[in-house]
Amino acid sequence: MTSHTLNELIAEGVRGRYILVRSDLNVPLDGSTVTDDGRIKASLPVIEKLSDAGARVLVTAHLGRPKGSPEAKYSLKPAVARLAELAPFKVQLAEDTVGESAKELAGSLGDGDVLVLENVRFDARETSKDDAERGAFADELVALTGDNGAFVDDAFGAVHRKHASVYDVATRLPSYQGDLVHTEVEVLRKLTTDTQRPYVVVLGGSKVSDKLAVIDNLLGKADTILVGGGMLFTFLAAAGHKVAGSLLEADQIPVVQDYLKRASDAGTAFVIPTDVVVASRFAADAEHEVVAADAIEDSSFGASGIGLDIGPVSAAAFAEQIKAAQTVFWNGPMGVFEFEAFSGGTRAIAQALTETPAFTVVGGGDSAAAVRTLGFEDSQFGHISTGGGASLEYLEGKDLPGLSVLDR
Ligand code: ADP
Ligand code: MG
Repeated sequence: MTSHTLNELIAEGVRGRYILVRSDLNVPLDGSTVTDDGRIKASLPVIEKLSDAGARVLVTAHLGRPKGSPEAKYSLKPAVARLAELAPFKVQLAEDTVGESAKELAGSLGDGDVLVLENVRFDARETSKDDAERGAFADELVALTGDNGAFVDDAFGAVHRKHASVYDVATRLPSYQGDLVHTEVEVLRKLTTDTQRPYVVVLGGSKVSDKLAVIDNLLGKADTILVGGGMLFTFLAAAGHKVAGSLLEADQIPVVQDYLKRASDAGTAFVIPTDVVVASRFAADAEHEVVAADAIEDSSFGASGIGLDIGPVSAAAFAEQIKAAQTVFWNGPMGVFEFEAFSGGTRAIAQALTETPAFTVVGGGDSAAAVRTLGFEDSQFGHISTGGGASLEYLEGKDLPGLSVLDR
């Protein structure tokens, strides 16, 4: 599997050429404030390299999940404003994707200038299942590059999507792997081949069925899987325990039972929390107490209690496993870390990751945001991945359309 790299493109010469770059600017917003600019900072180097080399850079990106037409709350404006603050070059934002504004601004770009097109998902064709529809949108994006254009995919967070700006443009232009995509793939390769053992995987978060899917491919690869976050309740239920009002995906119980059955043969151990923080309701100021994981309904809140974090004993046990590891992959917060009272488990895991000699990888948008909002520095971790879904699908062993289209 080889792809042409950004350095090869730069060596070919880009001065005066229109280079289409797919970036991942899908950042969390609070109104019009960017609450975690990690993905913007991670996208900057490639855009800057091209700008420095004299390219006229056209950046495509998405934000959130608009329904295929413009919606002010999904505008890239806040993200681009932050990019402009960080960038030493001129950045403009078009008012549309491939309309009048994009064409006019693209036409007036000078060498080294950067134009970001509006949220590509404002056009329904971007995510269409119909190849011809996506292709038509890709044609319009490609037309903006004139007759000597090229494409650089640097949006690792979107490589698992067969979308026009990720996949179809790459079938129409000479295409190159951006440095961020390259780095991410190198890191993920370390988690799938010749992995240094013990290899500990920490899984949490709220997208339970997404996270459960990755386990299949980890059985036999990971030595230990630490289970926290919302999915732990499906594990407890699979073991026959009651979980009161906690997040539960009942239809996934047989899947979990199958994993548990196969785990010991595969040489992978699951570690399920032995204690849980149970709350009276889903709120920052909810009453809460620590109970045994197999007695959640025995808390003072009875059948209406909800588990919002792993307990302190479990957090300490997880931390020990992490400190004894050589490789750690973490995806998904251990609890509702957004509420201080339920951030203890997530904080303990983040802390352990900074103390272990292991090579550590944090994947997942909320997990990355969690370590930053809890006050940790990016440099304290081996790698913080910009792509949650993409890194999980890579670890699942799936074909990622945005990566394979770059292979030749
Ligand atoms: P990531 O983006 O890192 O992949 P997810 O999107 O799957 O992670 O999940 C993140 C969310 O999971 C956080 O907003 C957190 O509040 C929530 N979460 C964690 N534990 C629980 C729990 N026990 N119950 C409900 N939500 C939880
Ligand atoms: Mg998330």
